[in-house]
Amino acid sequence: MRASQLHLVTYRDDPADAEITSHRLMARAGYIHKVSAGLYVYSPLLWRTLTKIAAIVREELDAIGAQEVQLPILQDQALWQRSGRWDLYQASGTMFSTTDRKGTTYGLAPTAEEVVTDYVGATVKSYRQLPLTLYQIHTKFRDELRPRFGLMRVKEFLMKDAYSFDTDEAGLDERYEAMRQAYERIFARVGVEAFGVDADPGEIGGSGSMEFMVAAEAGEDAILIEPDAGYAANVEKATSRLASAPGADEAPRPIRIESTPDVRSVEQLCAFFPDLTADRMVKTVLVKTVLVKALHTDREQLWAVLIRGDQEVNEVKLKNHTGGLSVQMLTEAEIEAATGAQQGFAGPVGLPAAFEIVADESVRGMRNLLCGCNRTDVHALDVNPGRDFPEPAYADLRLARAGEPGPRAGTPLVMKRGIEVGHIFKLGTKYAAAMDCTFVDADGRPRPFVMGCYGIGVSRVAAAAVEQRADERGIVWPLAIAPYEVAIACLSPKDAELVETAERLYGELRARGVDVLLDDRKLSAGAKMKDLELMGFPILVFVGRTWKQTGRAEVRFRGRGETLEVAGEEVVSVLVDAVVV
Ligand code: ATP
Ligand code: MG
Repeated sequence: MRASQLHLVTYRDDPADAEITSHRLMARAGYIHKVSAGLYVYSPLLWRTLTKIAAIVREELDAIGAQEVQLPILQDQALWQRSGRWDLYQASGTMFSTTDRKGTTYGLAPTAEEVVTDYVGATVKSYRQLPLTLYQIHTKFRDELRPRFGLMRVKEFLMKDAYSFDTDEAGLDERYEAMRQAYERIFARVGVEAFGVDADPGEIGGSGSMEFMVAAEAGEDAILIEPDAGYAANVEKATSRLASAPGADEAPRPIRIESTPDVRSVEQLCAFFPDLTADRMVKTVLVKTVLVKALHTDREQLWAVLIRGDQEVNEVKLKNHTGGLSVQMLTEAEIEAATGAQQGFAGPVGLPAAFEIVADESVRGMRNLLCGCNRTDVHALDVNPGRDFPEPAYADLRLARAGEPGPRAGTPLVMKRGIEVGHIFKLGTKYAAAMDCTFVDADGRPRPFVMGCYGIGVSRVAAAAVEQRADERGIVWPLAIAPYEVAIACLSPKDAELVETAERLYGELRARGVDVLLDDRKLSAGAKMKDLELMGFPILVFVGRTWKQTGRAEVRFRGRGETLEVAGEEVVSVLVDAVVV
């Protein structure tokens, strides 16, 4: 391709709303053009990159026997009501919806479990037709709370979504593992460093799930890793070992109520009772669950969450435990109305029955602890669970933190930030059972499909690659997904010999199958070099003064940060060697 014929635009300035490198560079290099918040035009260059990512995804999925289909984006409300997810997605605000002229309401696919389950339910009758894995690479819509970071979090994006259908759990395990391995190959071939982490399944649900993360400072996800022990988990899901609290082996002492005027936080309590450390205290977090009427009851549930004073509650774990759509902290006024005490004095002792109590595992076995007792300006000391308040239900609700002993080997956890580029889920029979989609098993009995689903954010992968590999001069595409592998520029467009040399190299490289761009624009040498570096072609070939003086081309390998002077007759073979993997 000739740059003079390509729709290329570059900008000197960063867009005002760009907070991260990939957004900045992709906008400046003209790859994305903002239409409105979270909506972008993909330029011809970006489309080449997305097409290359999609091609790798296709090859690897086809290789594990998955079959490509295309599912509608407009999806009937009635279909989503059969799975129970219509109300969930409406309540969370994730799904765009629209109504046709006859009054039928549709959602715009944020994901496609319902459509594909219905399709397979209607077309697969017997266990003999299973296993089956279908996938598509198609547009998804999500009404994100905060679209931002360029292509990372948009309202409309390109996703590969795959769905597997098996007769039983063992089959699902096989499909899931094959997909996990395909993902590893996909990201390795694309040229991003990605790793799998234990994940929370979120609104999609299911029993097990793994996210694929590209390590990058700008990533929105926090990951805890136990190096050398093979443990990595999204902080939403991560656990750690916690030494039991001091006092676990003490004999219970009689409960005492002490005046603690205006002492509300753990920090203030530590100052007020200098002999007591935070791990001798239990704090009580009061929340309510926001429920989805159609899925649960229409009654809001109040929860008192007990956790050791030196620990923090993990909201995702809590949300999962309560089964609500989300959890909300009670306001000061709500706390007073519900407990009769001001904020800062709530506790399990004397708590009104409206609250369901759940305790984090960190509270298990604590003795003679300090906590609130729902009276303003007092706290209770030497409280013992089971005696002074009913022994609560325990669950893992704690936020694991860097530095704590990891769950595998007890070695310190390290925190990394990551960009979620893929997510695989074991769904089990959740969707098929809810939607009554069954096949007939070998004994002639109807059984729901055992499903998995598997996503890759194709457009987010492009942004993640930029984020992970950019340098101070611009984007540095991995070779496999660069819009062009090589860009050749003649730096003196008025010099006929140099122009002809660049043309000849361009022709020879094309003939050898290299994906090459000839920058034949009428620009200064400096402007051309700057532009080509900004746009991120992995290998740049400059034909200019050096060629004139020595017969050598300057070949710049962006990824390696290395520039070589290559003899004229060797340029083609050097480049062919560099791009053929
Ligand atoms: P996130 O936690 O980032 O919101 P998610 O967990 O909701 O993502 P999934 O439902 O797992 O996303 O979707 C599969 C993949 O689609 C994600 O791993 C991600 O790569 C991509 N993706 C999800 N939401 C967006 C978005 N708003 N913009 C671009 N890509 C997205
Ligand atoms: Mg996800």
